[in-house]
Amino acid sequence: MSELNRLGLAEARDLLRKGEVTSVQLTEACLAAIEAADALNAFVHKTPEIALQRAEAADARIRAGDAPSMCGLPVGIKDLFCTRGVPSQAASRILEGFRPEYESTVSQNLKDSGAVMLGKLNMDEFAMGSSNETSCYGNAVNPWRRGNDDTALTPGGSSGGSASAVAADLCLAATGTATGGSIRQPAAFTGITGIKPTYGRCSRWGIVAFASSLDQAGPMTKSVRDAAIMLEAMCSHDPKDSTSTEIPVPDFEAMLTGDIRGKKIGIPKEYRMDGMPDEIEALWRSGAEMLKAAGAEIVDISLPHTKYALPAYYVIAPAEASSNLARYDGVRYGHRAKLAQGDGITEMYEKTRAEGFGDEVQRRVMVGTYVLSAGFYDAYYNRARKVRTLIKRDFEEVFAQGVDAILTPATPSSAFGLGEMAEADPVQMYLNDVFTVTVNLAGLPGIAVPAGLDRQGLPLGLQLIGRPWDEGDLLNTAFALETAAQFVAKPGKWW
Ligand code: GLN
Repeated sequence: MSELNRLGLAEARDLLRKGEVTSVQLTEACLAAIEAADALNAFVHKTPEIALQRAEAADARIRAGDAPSMCGLPVGIKDLFCTRGVPSQAASRILEGFRPEYESTVSQNLKDSGAVMLGKLNMDEFAMGSSNETSCYGNAVNPWRRGNDDTALTPGGSSGGSASAVAADLCLAATGTATGGSIRQPAAFTGITGIKPTYGRCSRWGIVAFASSLDQAGPMTKSVRDAAIMLEAMCSHDPKDSTSTEIPVPDFEAMLTGDIRGKKIGIPKEYRMDGMPDEIEALWRSGAEMLKAAGAEIVDISLPHTKYALPAYYVIAPAEASSNLARYDGVRYGHRAKLAQGDGITEMYEKTRAEGFGDEVQRRVMVGTYVLSAGFYDAYYNRARKVRTLIKRDFEEVFAQGVDAILTPATPSSAFGLGEMAEADPVQMYLNDVFTVTVNLAGLPGIAVPAGLDRQGLPLGLQLIGRPWDEGDLLNTAFALETAAQFVAKPGKWW
């Protein structure tokens, strides 16, 4: 069978179980695809030996009739996850040479469920960014191109390497993480599916921290069914993360009936932004029509504090980041600057952090320390926290009115050109997160599903937001949307 790397998780799993392919064959197909795709710069640390070893072990388990849910399925892991003995750099120079002694709970869960790790995936430095351009490895590239030119496009960020690798069939699926939108925005930019679960569903243990009250891991996959399979494997209660919740993980895949009759889908008026391209507006409308045709009831809703979400996020996230990143001091991890005669510990910290952190990370640390400083704490940080509570309450009120899920666009545009934002104000880049940050601030599950192509032939995604802990129902609504949208386009291979 040719091009096994093009399979999704569910199809590959079924073929493995029937004995029609082996994990070694699947893994070799992915490794060959990765070797041929250096131009995408998606995989930044390749682990072929580990992959083949795990694939052989998986084949043995399958033969013995002891195959857990992801047994033998090759996946990529975002560089933000600590993986034992394998470079885990969060795409930062400051973690150069860091090989953790431990494995993140999520990547351990995937390993325990039989998944095969192919390597580590590119991302924005410390997951700060929306274009993958802040990475110390250089940006990953979107496999999609505009129909009328060959401008290199961003795969989105921060999980840009994950998105590029899944869209280009270098792996069957990948892990991502989202603090503000880093799973849904890159998924939308590359025509794949990505779900950020409820805060507390996946353990954050062993994932390099950006903003701890917002960070959450999730799968990036070729279909909603695959997202259901992989999310279940990633989730667990973990005593090593005090914010991980002790709640049963249902069989998400079994909940994909496609029946959404009688479900109430809310359309929030505040997400209709000024200057939003008419194609996005049209896609949103057609998404609502598809859900209606599948038997859902469409209702207009209001989430009045939406306009404060981005400013609140860009206070809270940098504040937490400035504290989390204080540990990179040249002593405990990775890189240390070369010191001059007479330099003391202060110079060592200063030089190490100046060399080790890129511009965007330094900007966040400065903003974060500023909003937490004695004179400004109440004016910025405390106010942002109050706004966050109001944003959360907006959602609670809508869900209390019986709304089952909320439909919005995933991003305000399709993928933009690499370098296009270089001269722009950083706030221009921050606007990418306008539809996604509210969900992280409120701790809710959100999923991006590819729903169409724009005039330039680039994918566009729709976002569905669900009730807390109700990922099963959310995935089922997404499944109904996916079934109706029938998005089957793939990027033309140029790399
Ligand atoms: N783009 C957002 C930021 O730069 C979100 C990043 C993320 O979700 N990790 O903060």
